[in-house]
Amino acid sequence: MRFTFVTLFKPLMEGYFEDSILKRAIAKGLISVDYLNPRDFTTDKHRKVDDTAAGGGAGMVMMAQPLYDTLNHLKKESPDVHIIVTSPVGKPFRQSDARRLASQKRHVAFVSGRYEGIDERLIELCADEIFSIGDYILTGGELPSLVMADAVCRLVPGVLGNVESLETESFETTLLEAPSFTRPKSFHNLSIPSELLKGNHSKINALKKRLALAKTKYFRPERYLKFTQRESDEKSIY
Ligand code: SAM
Repeated sequence: MRFTFVTLFKPLMEGYFEDSILKRAIAKGLISVDYLNPRDFTTDKHRKVDDTAAGGGAGMVMMAQPLYDTLNHLKKESPDVHIIVTSPVGKPFRQSDARRLASQKRHVAFVSGRYEGIDERLIELCADEIFSIGDYILTGGELPSLVMADAVCRLVPGVLGNVESLETESFETTLLEAPSFTRPKSFHNLSIPSELLKGNHSKINALKKRLALAKTKYFRPERYLKFTQRESDEKSIY
C-alpha cells in the first residue's frame, strides 16, 4: 500500500517511518511512503502558498492553486489515489475507517493544512474524504496524517506479526480490550490477576471478558450500554 503526504513540512514527518514496525514494513515492501510539497507547484517567484483571509480576520489561508496542481500531478501519475484532507471540522476518524482504507485502497494521499487552514474550494474540488482526529486544534495536518496513516499501516496484511491480537483490540469490537500484564508477578505490591497465570484458557477468557466489561463501563459508558443492548452479536469473541 502506498501513502503520499502532501505537506510543506516533510522533515516533521519522515522520522516516523525510520524506526520500528513501519520501517520494517517499508523494508519488506508492504508499504511505501512519499512526499509532495505544494511549494514546488507554485507559479510565482516567491513560491507563495498562503494569502490573507477573504473577508478579513487573523491569519493566513493556504491557497487553492498550489495544492490543486500538486494533487492533479499526483492523480495523473496514480489515477486511483484516494485523497484525504485533514481538518478539525472533518468526520471523526475511527478504527472502522482505518480498516476500510487498509482493505479497499492501494494508494492514499493525506493533505496537511497549515495556518488558518485550506481554501474551502480546494477541499470541495479534490477531497474524497475529510477527517478530523479529535475535537482540538493542532498547528498543522502533519500529526493527523501520521496518526491516520499509522492506524491504516498496522492493518495492512503482514505489517504486524500477530494478527490474532487484533481481534480483541479496543475499537475492533464495542468493548475495550481487557488490561494487559507481564512479568514480574508482583510489582509494587500489585499482583497480576492469578487466573491469568494458571493456564486454564476458558477461565482466562471469562476473566478477560469481565475485565473488558468493567473497563468499558468505567471509561466509555456509551460503548458499554451499546454492548449490553446487543451483546449476543459479540459473545463469540471471548
Ligand atoms: N482555523 C481552523 C479551524 O478553526 O477549524 C483550524 C486550522 S488548523 C490551525 C491548521 C490545519 O491543521 C488544518 O487545516 C488541518 O490540516 C490541521 N488540523 C488541526 N487540527 C486538526 C484536527 N483535530 N484534525 C485534523 N486536522 C487538524
